[in-house]
Amino acid sequence: MGLPPVISEAARRVALLEAAEARKVRAEIKSKVKQGQLNFDEVLKLAFENRAISKMRVKELLESFSGVGRVRSATLMERLNISPTRRIQGLGKHQIERLREEFAVVTSFTKRGKLIVLSGPGGVGKSTVASKLREKGNFWVSVSATTRQPRSHERDGVDYFFLSEQEFSRRVAADEFLEWAAFAGARYGTPQGPVLEALHCGRDVLLEIEIAGAKQVKVHLPSALLIFLEPPSWEELVARLERRGSDSPERRAHRLELAQEELAAAASFDLVIVNTLVDSVVSQLIELTSA
Ligand code: 5GP
Repeated sequence: MGLPPVISEAARRVALLEAAEARKVRAEIKSKVKQGQLNFDEVLKLAFENRAISKMRVKELLESFSGVGRVRSATLMERLNISPTRRIQGLGKHQIERLREEFAVVTSFTKRGKLIVLSGPGGVGKSTVASKLREKGNFWVSVSATTRQPRSHERDGVDYFFLSEQEFSRRVAADEFLEWAAFAGARYGTPQGPVLEALHCGRDVLLEIEIAGAKQVKVHLPSALLIFLEPPSWEELVARLERRGSDSPERRAHRLELAQEELAAAASFDLVIVNTLVDSVVSQLIELTSA
């Protein structure tokens, strides 16, 4: 059996420093990809010039693109016959071409439309604000999927896509949601494809979703602006939930409990707007996208 190579302490320290520096370079590239500042082609060019980048795993690069989760990247790599441990430097010409085609749609869409995420406690008036914005046509407003039962006035495909538990689970597994969360006994999710497409076409996009989902969006798309809609007072929020009248007393009590927790999340948002007058909230949101 051969003896292991003898490495001096100094050489070992240099190697460790180099490895740390390479990790830092790769983390920076991934963060830029995530924010839409670098597209697939640009990363390849950089990899050609920089050894640390060329050693990045293909899997890590693909997963950095907004809208490409673990499942989608694994499926894609399997389809293109790229081993899960392959590094950029090991990609074949044909594989590069195919990846280029796949990413032509995804790349740098965040430079296009702005993504506004409107969140806040249930009953604060998010959906009223969202429907006014939809009417005015300034935003492309996403239609969510949910497993809850439709209310009497709600239409499938307009207010929500009403899905069975089984279909919702299938879409989660297929990585079809930009975010999803469980809320008050049901699941809600934002279909990813239409949002990415609208942003890519230069539309400003509005998501009206609860807090846990809003935070997930920020992780995937850090350029998204998270807005927390606050009620003028706790009493007003209680009154609004009671006026709604479509929930059973148990569900309303549960929603109030949740609202108390939700109000505490305001601090982690980019901006807080108090919903005293719906029209004023609507104008503030329009102003934000024209800035
Ligand atoms: P509701 O059942 O009253 O229509 O909605 C309950 C909560 O789910 C609201 O706070 C609403 O903003 C939120 N919601 C609606 N669609 C989505 C979605 O796609 N994702 C997440 N995370 N929450 C959503």
